[in-house]
Amino acid sequence: MTKSNGEDPRSGSRMERFQQGVRKRTLLAKKKMQSVTKDDVKGYLVRNAFVLLTVTAVIVGTAALDSKASGKMGIRAIVYYMSTTIIAVIIGIIVVVIIHPGKGTKENMHREGKIMKVTAADAFLDLIRNMFPPNLVEACFKQFKTNYDKRMFRVPIPPNETSVVASVINNVSEAMETLTRMKEEVIPVPGAVNGVNALGLVVFSISFGLVIGNMKEQGQPLRHFFDSLNEAIMRLVALIMWYAPLGIMFLIAGKIVEMEDMGVIGGQLAMYTITVIIGLLIHAIIVLPLLYFLVVRKNPWVFIGGLLQALITALGTSSSSATLPITFKCLEDINGVDKRITRFVLPVGATINMDGTALYEALAAIFIAQVNNFELNFGQIITISITATAASIGAAGIPQAGLVTMVIVLTSVGLPTEDITLIIAVDWFLDRLRTTTNVLGDSIGAGIIEHLSRNELKNRDAEMGNSVIEE
Ligand code: ASP
Repeated sequence: MTKSNGEDPRSGSRMERFQQGVRKRTLLAKKKMQSVTKDDVKGYLVRNAFVLLTVTAVIVGTAALDSKASGKMGIRAIVYYMSTTIIAVIIGIIVVVIIHPGKGTKENMHREGKIMKVTAADAFLDLIRNMFPPNLVEACFKQFKTNYDKRMFRVPIPPNETSVVASVINNVSEAMETLTRMKEEVIPVPGAVNGVNALGLVVFSISFGLVIGNMKEQGQPLRHFFDSLNEAIMRLVALIMWYAPLGIMFLIAGKIVEMEDMGVIGGQLAMYTITVIIGLLIHAIIVLPLLYFLVVRKNPWVFIGGLLQALITALGTSSSSATLPITFKCLEDINGVDKRITRFVLPVGATINMDGTALYEALAAIFIAQVNNFELNFGQIITISITATAASIGAAGIPQAGLVTMVIVLTSVGLPTEDITLIIAVDWFLDRLRTTTNVLGDSIGAGIIEHLSRNELKNRDAEMGNSVIEE
């Protein structure tokens, strides 16, 4: 009798054990998938190929121009980078103010954490220090970054915790642990090993390229050397990229497994995600193509169609730097952009021009203000625009770098930096989208700068042709 009417008390626990087992196995599989792909695809490309590729590409690009031409192109690139970044920031601010995804109360999202000690001045000084590394070899594996406080990443437990919420929290904190571990490696102050000081290498390579370019015939052997080294690395990367689609598939699959319980974090986060997507779409499919059309007077969609492989790689790797070789290939081989332009502007763009990141940083900061019922005045919105621009310049072209530099934006207007934890759960996804926008911005920039620089390129061709004839 007792058996027929009631539930076997052990069956529940057996069920639970079974569910736990499934969860454990899923997590294990996910970890395996992620570690294989992270190490193989991003790790290899970013750590090994990126340094050589960046250095040789920038030297080749700069050396192929004379200093006057590269000066003009440099100015055009900076004007393009700054104006598109500022437009992106403005779009971010407008959409987040109109959609207002952060309505609601802070009370139901209890958090804990510590205010970060990093200020905008710290970040600015890091930028300058990185531009002029004391030791070039060291710059290949060491960058300056004021140490971000790891405690910020402590993931909060909501008060009315349910088991589903707990599992989300666990997933997120696990992801964060990986992230902080990664940051510790990337932020070598002092002594860690994996970060590349891309900015320092780019500044040096531009100077070196300029010197070689001005040496005319005497510089030819060096130009040929770097040209051929650059070509060899490109070919090597092309070989590795055969493997990329598989890696990208696993990276995303691993993340989707992690996404299962995301819904409980709430409508605000969903609205925030949609707002970021709308902002990025406006910038990527309206502003940038329009700008290309207005300047170059050609169909922007044909140009963007040629970039498809690079855009998909950006989506898959969340890294502008890891995507760089593919961006070169698409622009040069498919869209026929002059190598002297791509090699000169793309590595710089991948390091400092991040429209998607700037848009996201401004938008996310205002979202956090909204969640906190914090009224921002006009001056504070201007401060957010400026610091979001600076933070996007300071962010490296690696996954989730923008999340870390967000601290600068929040600190500048006195918003609680620990609230970054609110948006961490969806950042893996938004990072992919903003990286894709970043790569698109760099590529369209290369097309526009090539068009504006066609006279200098022609002059240089004539000059080089003459000097060959004179020889
Ligand atoms: N992942 C981005 C990039 O590589 C940077 C960011 O986190 O916004 O372009």
